Amino acid sequence: MDLNGVSAIVTGGASGIGAATARLLASKGAKVVVADLQEDRGTALATEIGGAFCRVDVTKTDEIVNAIEMAKSMGPLRVLVNSAGIGWAQRTIGKDGSYDSAANLDAFKKVIAINLVGTFDCIRLAATAMSTTEPLEYGERGAIVNIASVAAFDGQIGQASYSASKGGVVGMTLPIARDLSASGIRVNTVAPGLIDTPIYGQGEGSEAFKANLEKGVLFPHRLGEGTELASMVVECITNSYMNAETIRVDGGIRMPPK
Ligand code: NDP
Repeated sequence: MDLNGVSAIVTGGASGIGAATARLLASKGAKVVVADLQEDRGTALATEIGGAFCRVDVTKTDEIVNAIEMAKSMGPLRVLVNSAGIGWAQRTIGKDGSYDSAANLDAFKKVIAINLVGTFDCIRLAATAMSTTEPLEYGERGAIVNIASVAAFDGQIGQASYSASKGGVVGMTLPIARDLSASGIRVNTVAPGLIDTPIYGQGEGSEAFKANLEKGVLFPHRLGEGTELASMVVECITNSYMNAETIRVDGGIRMPPK
């Protein structure tokens, strides 16, 4: 699919993998709506790449619709990348045998609400808009890429909520691709390993944490870069024969229990 002149929405587009993807999409001619909570960074990036910023919390349906309407005003909406997400870790039970020390259920629900339900809400609404665009060759109308995680497959201690959210994204990739095939919309998911982004925080503690993480990467022995993920995301969009698949981009890492 040619990206020249199409509009694209990247949720979580102000930071990390989403920002790298927004830049690469724009470099290929797409008009990108950076849909994120981070207004300052999102506006700066949108200015840099000739796109637009839309303040979107992916748990708010009306804000998703605003981003879609903005994208439609910039060109036919043919691309959605779901990169908004949060991490969270807590063991399922506490140490003292009290019910109160069991995992925080509100935290579990919040991770699912953002990473899984938010992703589905963006898909169902953006795909609705895509389905009304003029078909391209072979009836193609658009492409969607979700960002899951290797935690969908190798969830570590404390990752029940995060792995459930990302496993849900992996699990819904095929049925949604089937649902949208009649409209010529492809759906793929990319599952990153350990990528050097602001999700790990900043400062000395975070650098030490990341240095420890990269020891487990098979090859190359380092964290991945946002651009390396963006490259796979954009391949999934531009390669019209790519559909209904989840691809790990992880330097060969298989996460241990902790
Ligand atoms: P970043 O934290 O750099 O970027 C995520 C962006 O999404 C942030 O700007 C964040 O804002 C935003 N965001 C969070 N919640 C919402 C929301 N409710 N609505 C809209 N935007 C929101 O993270 P990454 O680029 O590293 O992560 C991108 C995706 O990749 C995530 O889904 C993550 O789970 C996944 N991933 C990342 C890995 C990594 O190693 N970096 C590994 C595997 C998967 P704010 O900063 O305010 O929260």
